Amino acid sequence: MKLGRDVEIAVIGTGFAGIAVAYYLCTEYQKKSVLLIDSRQPMSYTSAKSGDNYRNWFPHPIMVDFINYSTDLMECIALESPDVMQMTRRGYALTTRRTDIDDLIAGLHAGYGDAESDLIRIHSGPSSNSYQPIDAADWTAAPNGVDVMSNQDLIRRTFPSFSPEVAHVLHIRRAGAIDGQQMGQYMLQRIKQSGGKRLSAHVRSIGQQQRFELEVEGPDGIEQINADVIVNAAGPFADEIAAMIGVDLPLKNVYQQKLAFDDQHGAISRQLPFSLDLDDQELNWTDEERDLLADDPDMAWLLKPILGGAHCRPDGGDKRTWVKLGWAFNRESSEPQQELANDPHFNPNFPELILRATARLNPSLQRYSETFPSSWTHYGGYYPMTNENWPLIGPLGVDGAFVIGALSGYGCMAACAAGAICAAWITDGNLPDYATQLSLARYDDEKLMTEILNSPSKGIL
Ligand SMILES: Cc1cc2nc3c(=O)[nH]c(=O)nc-3n(C[C@H](O)[C@H](O)[C@H](O)COP(=O)(O)OP(=O)(O)OC[C@H]3O[C@@H](n4cnc5c(N)ncnc54)[C@H](O)[C@@H]3O)c2cc1C
Repeated sequence: MKLGRDVEIAVIGTGFAGIAVAYYLCTEYQKKSVLLIDSRQPMSYTSAKSGDNYRNWFPHPIMVDFINYSTDLMECIALESPDVMQMTRRGYALTTRRTDIDDLIAGLHAGYGDAESDLIRIHSGPSSNSYQPIDAADWTAAPNGVDVMSNQDLIRRTFPSFSPEVAHVLHIRRAGAIDGQQMGQYMLQRIKQSGGKRLSAHVRSIGQQQRFELEVEGPDGIEQINADVIVNAAGPFADEIAAMIGVDLPLKNVYQQKLAFDDQHGAISRQLPFSLDLDDQELNWTDEERDLLADDPDMAWLLKPILGGAHCRPDGGDKRTWVKLGWAFNRESSEPQQELANDPHFNPNFPELILRATARLNPSLQRYSETFPSSWTHYGGYYPMTNENWPLIGPLGVDGAFVIGALSGYGCMAACAAGAICAAWITDGNLPDYATQLSLARYDDEKLMTEILNSPSKGIL
């Protein structure tokens, strides 16, 4: 083994989490000796599968504040470098056919907390002139909060492609998409300019003497890295890294899938926001298909109602033709696989399922169930998450060790705030009021844990 180099801070993992914490350590706190370690290319594991959507719609005010902070930070980068972020703000259009939406309104009040009266706008009467239409070209002009649209004329005018069955739309306005890969590359460039370094290697073990001793394996063999501080940003493998220093992380990994395809027929308007069907649904099989599915024990579940959440959005800007569809209906956790497509929950029938499911909200997609798109990709990745679906950011329970993880299905939108908060923990910088609740210390707060574990929604999309 090569006797290794000394660094002040070793960050394990170069997905959104590792890159973001290194970015704030180098740029905000002027740390000069930061080493990012990963055997993969940056942003090539979970972070490569992100839909790159963001929204400040979560079921608890702490999560809303956290994502608002992250959005503020993303906006700073977008203003500094608009070509990098490609930030849009068409919002999230959450749709339902139900007549009674009291629980959804209660969820909005719970999430927006004290700011609710300013942020929740109800449009139900015959004239709903106060609705501010979408202007994605200028995200800085978009309003905050949510427009609850119960006026049928307004819904049809604003979202003509939606099924006429849709009775209400909750249009979350501080929401949209960014180019996550570009954001990561931008941060990496700034890390490099500030003296931060990368090492292509896998961390095999971590010893603890006066400092942390990381045994890493790279293309040149095995090496030792000595570090004062370690940051566990290993995504789905964060529990493996924590176990190396004797810490048990409450982390599970849940596999979710996406379909991206070339919408050659222009079925989806390039102006459509991220549009999500909140209603559970039974897929519309033919009688013959029903019989076949009923005979197959692995497939029979497809005849039952499936959780709401099928979603769709145009991808890659107004001049392109691709569309991304997703549906995070899986709730079973898995052992993370090195090859993401090897997960047992990777379902070869997902493209067909998701096309059928999203056509219920946007009937123009039905044509692709009849004639499958000619160019498409089906892929999946893990939501590394806690049971309550809150992140883990902060001290790891061993002096000098920190974690930034459990970023679930919101790690792209949360990366900036998670990175800034983790960097502040490491350097004794300024922490937001809620930082402790996002760290492992929240498990000592019985009242908070009972509240968030019993919440009717965990904010999983
Ligand atoms: C299908 C899907 C859609 C999503 N859509 C969105 C979305 O629209 N918006 C949003 O905000 N988020 C979304 N997410 C979530 C987001 O992608 C994740 O939260 C985020 O990528 C997690 O980043 P990470 O850095 O924690 O993990 P990763 O990107 O997995 O990075 C962890 C890194 O650690 C490395 N590593 C692990 N073990 C070791 C070791 N022993 N030694 C060295 N390196 C190690 C790995 O190689 C990996 O590169 C989505 C996720 C999925 C799967």
